[in-house]
Amino acid sequence: MKTVVITGGAGFIGSHLCDYFLEKGYRVICVDNLITGKEVNISHLKKHPHFTYLNHDVSTPLHFDERIDYVLHFASLASPKAYQLYPIQTLKVGALGTHNTLGLAKKHQATYLLASTSEVYGDPLVHPQPETYWGNVNPIGVRGCYDESKRFAEALVMAYHRTHHLDTKIARIFNTYGPRMAIDDGRVVPAFLMQVIRGKPLTVYGDGSQTRSFCYIKDLTEGLHKLLLSSEHEPVNLGNPAEMTIKQFAEKILAITQSPSKIVFEELPLDDPKIRQPDITKAIKLLGWKPSVPVEEGLMETYDWFRAHAPSR
Ligand code: UDP
Repeated sequence: MKTVVITGGAGFIGSHLCDYFLEKGYRVICVDNLITGKEVNISHLKKHPHFTYLNHDVSTPLHFDERIDYVLHFASLASPKAYQLYPIQTLKVGALGTHNTLGLAKKHQATYLLASTSEVYGDPLVHPQPETYWGNVNPIGVRGCYDESKRFAEALVMAYHRTHHLDTKIARIFNTYGPRMAIDDGRVVPAFLMQVIRGKPLTVYGDGSQTRSFCYIKDLTEGLHKLLLSSEHEPVNLGNPAEMTIKQFAEKILAITQSPSKIVFEELPLDDPKIRQPDITKAIKLLGWKPSVPVEEGLMETYDWFRAHAPSR
């Protein structure tokens, strides 16, 4: 049985990875300090014989005596609201957390996967974004703490690969959504779905002409697993290329949920990227992966989950 350490394992993507790897027959060690992760996301796994949870901040070193085969570094403040509230912790987990988890992987000669992000492309001047694009990031802006932590993390991963010949992977994850997103993390999917559930207007920032491309969590976990087992060391984009404006996205949510809510326009946050769409040619060719869940289907499943799990007031 292979053992996988998943940092940020009580978060949105991390907890789905815990489920996924347990189902595939791995032993899972979930590490999370619960700064934004939630115990409830993994409470159904607590009695699983192959699951262990460790409350630990990976910005400080971590050691395991048992053999570790894979290290998946997903710990981070990931929503703009969260990383702007905790910019120093965000920089530390991207820098020190990546260093500590790479050290862990090196000690065990484990395969390492970094959860990087489309934010490394910043407010992109190339569209859609291929992995060869170096990005357009404001290092001192309000998003700099997240973007630069992930850019540094990528550089560190490549340095460990080149210097120590560690088997490393870098996933550049684009906007992903699904059950267990934190209802109050400010991201557009939970924000709009909670506004529908509470009968409030949908708050579109700016004129809503900025674009995003949304990938369902089930598609993403499969892509991550394929990348982990691949022999690629350079970054690979994982996301759904189905691009839409945020205004179109709000209208789609109103249509799918048959909500009578209106749309209101609010101020656009600073440095909000104007366009974002993954070029997934590399993932298709290299991993034989592309997303298959239509946004309508994924949103309906997510809406059902929010209705069942979120307080309506
Ligand atoms: N957004 C919005 N209304 C909201 C929350 C977000 O219009 O209530 C917009 C936000 O300005 C951005 C997009 O939706 O253009 C996606 O935002 P999110 O915070 O989900 O993640 P990002 O892709 O910016 O990291």
